[in-house]
Amino acid sequence: MKKPLYNRVVLKISGEALKGEKGFGLDEVTILDIAQQIKGLQELNVEVAIVVGGGNFWRGRSSKDMDRTTADYMGMLATVINALALQDALERMDVLTRVQTAIEMRQIAEPYIRRRAVRHLEKGRVVIFAAGTGNPYFSTDTTAALRAAEIEADVILLAKKGIDGVYDSDPMENPNAQKFDKLNYKDVLNLELGVMDSTAASLCKDNKIPIIVFGIEESNNIVKVVMGEKIGTQLN
Ligand code: UDP
Repeated sequence: MKKPLYNRVVLKISGEALKGEKGFGLDEVTILDIAQQIKGLQELNVEVAIVVGGGNFWRGRSSKDMDRTTADYMGMLATVINALALQDALERMDVLTRVQTAIEMRQIAEPYIRRRAVRHLEKGRVVIFAAGTGNPYFSTDTTAALRAAEIEADVILLAKKGIDGVYDSDPMENPNAQKFDKLNYKDVLNLELGVMDSTAASLCKDNKIPIIVFGIEESNNIVKVVMGEKIGTQLN
């Protein structure tokens, strides 16, 4: 039988991916579909850590006059809502999970403790990292890069909504936009392709963490990527 390509993955799910067809917030059917795919990874004995975004509720940079730090803390809190929604969906499918937050809120989740997170993974629990890095001016893509380095993940799976990889220009605006199958981080940084912020790309480049960028809408793509199907764009 074919084996999964990776033992330990960080799955980055943007907030956008959780809102389904809705303009804002959470779509429970979409969340259940994603949870089902995560369960699929667990059944393949892949250790899964999730970093969840918050853009379906709030992004710090979208505020106009608000103090940026306050706006960013609001964004981090949004990721906690998403983390709890994912935890709920996974546990309804009998997948054991732990949420760890980078800002302490002990009544609802564990604080982020690296060794503890690794232990959970070794025991087969899905760990959901919430509240980003805990610092303003960062993104959850950077959180994914940081946590992947810390827990020594084999790869970051960057699940996107509305796009299925990295293109040389915006495919929504340019019908001739070309998709890359592979790219190196130097190009990601130099060409300013907008796939992720430069802090996240630099962290992955310096620590040699590969990323696969792919679309989450197509059914079972998360499992397909882990099984080595060539979809999306590989960055390394
Ligand atoms: N954020 C932050 N520090 C972090 C991670 C996130 O300040 O380490 C804030 C920031 O305001 C960001 C928001 O949380 O806009 C939501 O995260 P992100 O935009 O990365 O979510 P996504 O686009 O993946 O849904």
